[in-house]
Amino acid sequence: MKVTFYGTRGSIPTPGETTVKYGGNTACVLIEADNKKLIFDAGTGIKKLGEELASNNEPVTIVLSHNHWDHIQGFPFFIPAYQKNRLINIYSAPTQPIEHNAILEQMDMSTFPVPSKDLTADINIIPLMNEFENMIINGLCVSAIKINHPNGGLAYKISHNSKVVAYVTDNEIYSKDNLNTDFDSWVAFLSDVDCLVHDAQYTDLEMPLKLGWGHSSIDQAIKLAKAAKIKVLILYSHAPERTDKELDKFISDIQFDDLQIIASQEGKTHEV
Ligand SMILES: [Zn+2]
Repeated sequence: MKVTFYGTRGSIPTPGETTVKYGGNTACVLIEADNKKLIFDAGTGIKKLGEELASNNEPVTIVLSHNHWDHIQGFPFFIPAYQKNRLINIYSAPTQPIEHNAILEQMDMSTFPVPSKDLTADINIIPLMNEFENMIINGLCVSAIKINHPNGGLAYKISHNSKVVAYVTDNEIYSKDNLNTDFDSWVAFLSDVDCLVHDAQYTDLEMPLKLGWGHSSIDQAIKLAKAAKIKVLILYSHAPERTDKELDKFISDIQFDDLQIIASQEGKTHEV
């Protein structure tokens, strides 16, 4: 399996000289195996992915973790949505309130010039259930569990040929306000995972001011990865103010014999 990052940033796009290396686009990850592709989230990173996909007419499958802007705001700029006869299936996680069409409805107000009814692709929204196991989505086996996040949403596990990748973003592992999945349940869900992409927006020092915001610290993500005996942890959803220098330092300071830790970086592909 291959995991490629198109957007690594949480909350808001952060272009600038301090984010050149790890990237400033919001959430978008391509997971692929045997030419079967799943796009996780449609933050601003999906624009570049759309440019790459524009040259063919393969069906596109997008799986959304939730509807916060940084996970859907790139879709109005996704070229395949404007291609005639292009099939786009969007699997939408249940949120509070349930708004499976939010990715399209964001285009239907005075905030965007093209209403969603003018998109020429054949777009289907497929509502997902709260939790599920081994659902085949575009040929890949996907399981889901609820994230601990304001307005809810889902984390996913993708399996193919005995390799397993998990996409767990916008998740406050030790949430008090939005606890849907406790630590032990995360460990159980992730127990067969080889590569974990997990929210690591903050540091432990920053965490006390961010409680209830629905994100985890780098150390909390590491603790979970170790408990679940993960081999590779990819830190994701970097804080908007996090600089390349800081991420470089975190990564050089935290490495373990039994756990490889990587900071997600726009444009980088990881083989699992
Ligand atoms: Zn969110």
